[in-house]
Amino acid sequence: LAVPPEVIDEIRSRVDIVRVIGDSVPLKKSGRNFVGLCPFHNEKSPSFTVSDQKQLYHCFGCGEGGTVFTYLMKAGHLTFPEALERLANLAGVDLSRYQQEAREINAFKEKRQKLHRVLSYARDFYHFTFLNAPEAKKARTYAISRGLKEKEASLVKLGFAPEGWQSLFNALIKDHQPVEDALAAGLIAKRPREEGFYDVFRDRLLFPIEDAKGNMVGFGGRVLGDGTPKYLNSSQTAVFDKGKLLYGLCAAEEAIRKAKKAIVVEGYMDQVALRFHGVEHAVATLGTALTEHHAQLLSKYVDEVIVVFDGDEAGVKAARRSMRALLPQGLRTKVVVLPNEHDPDTFIQEEGRGAFLALVEKAEPMLPFFVNRFFKGESDVSKKAEAMEELATIIQSVGNVYLKEAIVSEAAKLTGTDPAILRGGMSVRKITPVARPASVMSAVKAEKPNELWVLLRLGAEVPDARKRLLQGEILGLSVQEPEFVATTLQWLKNVESRSADSPAASAVDSWVDESTRPLLARAFVAEELTLTQNWEQVWNDCVKKLRQREIRRLGGLVRAADDGGEEDKVLQLMKRMDELKRLDQGGEK
Ligand SMILES: [Zn+2]
Repeated sequence: LAVPPEVIDEIRSRVDIVRVIGDSVPLKKSGRNFVGLCPFHNEKSPSFTVSDQKQLYHCFGCGEGGTVFTYLMKAGHLTFPEALERLANLAGVDLSRYQQEAREINAFKEKRQKLHRVLSYARDFYHFTFLNAPEAKKARTYAISRGLKEKEASLVKLGFAPEGWQSLFNALIKDHQPVEDALAAGLIAKRPREEGFYDVFRDRLLFPIEDAKGNMVGFGGRVLGDGTPKYLNSSQTAVFDKGKLLYGLCAAEEAIRKAKKAIVVEGYMDQVALRFHGVEHAVATLGTALTEHHAQLLSKYVDEVIVVFDGDEAGVKAARRSMRALLPQGLRTKVVVLPNEHDPDTFIQEEGRGAFLALVEKAEPMLPFFVNRFFKGESDVSKKAEAMEELATIIQSVGNVYLKEAIVSEAAKLTGTDPAILRGGMSVRKITPVARPASVMSAVKAEKPNELWVLLRLGAEVPDARKRLLQGEILGLSVQEPEFVATTLQWLKNVESRSADSPAASAVDSWVDESTRPLLARAFVAEELTLTQNWEQVWNDCVKKLRQREIRRLGGLVRAADDGGEEDKVLQLMKRMDELKRLDQGGEK
């Protein structure tokens, strides 16, 4: 059930948290708030506080806290959609439109499952044909010539589509498979001028393609004779989008997690050859350049990716293009360009696994690779300028401010260029929304200091404080995790763009991480501060504490680096510590 935040704000503004909680917990007025016995822990004197004004609750005894939504979810054991529905009823808000949408989404899911099923049927049909049909002999011979034994061909379910126009179609009919699903899955097509259907894949070797969960989504087909096109993929369908899929990902997932890195190659045959030569943490793009979607997909599993390109001009060009997709995603990316016009398949067949892994081991990080090949190694001045411009454009598209600054400083060092030029002279830092699943946020286990939450409350309530927070430096004092920073910045942006009746509750509800939401709620309820009047003093106190905490943390890191004999790191950390100490004494904000 996807209900827009404005509607949720509307529902919240029409119900009263004191009445909703008061239905199950007797509440008494106490000062500006209401208090009662906490429903979340056993107590004799009330420390459970409900703020009428903020539309939030907080327990000083056990630390529970949140909004009317979180209350119903926790106390009533409801899911969010259930809590939403109940409150919508109370508020007289009609959700049927969104419920209709939810039904449509379910119908779409069902449709996708039907496509997975018919594609699995086709995979088995083509694989059986590959193994048994007399006319598939040339496909079997080809596979053997590429070093694939029958057992291996069976593992990847290699298929063969016979020459006729209706081989698959006839099989579908005979086995009572739904023709409309096969049509929607791009397996068959309507005849242009007459009634009836024909097979899309004919006289081709077929690589079945699965999504990351192992569902069948399509085929990659390679012609065996002189036919054209040489490669034919499934067309775009409800389940197949070549810009978002990586061949072999499901099978390679475990090996990728174990190796803590993924190898990306360009062809199905390359991936298969690597796999059966014992390089199991490799995936392939489907004959396309790497996209940002690929990078996002991979970043769910690893933070290091090695992209292997063919050793020809096209390979080098593809390597250059891939930086645009990979660099802004913050993946540690390295590049291998194979020697002597090899592709990964021919290389590993001729040189073996050890030689291939040695190349991967020596892979060059993306940024130096780019700078060395296209900037330093380029003698033509206009081409040099082109490379610089390309690099600057890519840098400016990086959403995460920390990542961006890290890339700027590295690129400035490598190229000897003024960082301002790489930044494009932009003084306003752009924050593009980064969609982060809540689970990633929950992975941030470290308990953040209380001051952080007070500052975030300031950020939600005071526009000037928000501006300061959006610059990022202050957040960096208490948060080291880039995910957390990116999500927090995005939250501040959202807070800014919304005008809810109860801004505090709205801000708390839009905080994506459930596990830390009570801490934020506490900052709104518990601190008896009239922030709009003396917010700067509160701000300065918090920043001072955070700075001192950070100085202590850096001190620990200095000792560790010193013990490890890492002199550069010691100097770097000391410099940062001095900076903070200076700011601290100067009382600057
Ligand atoms: Zn409690």
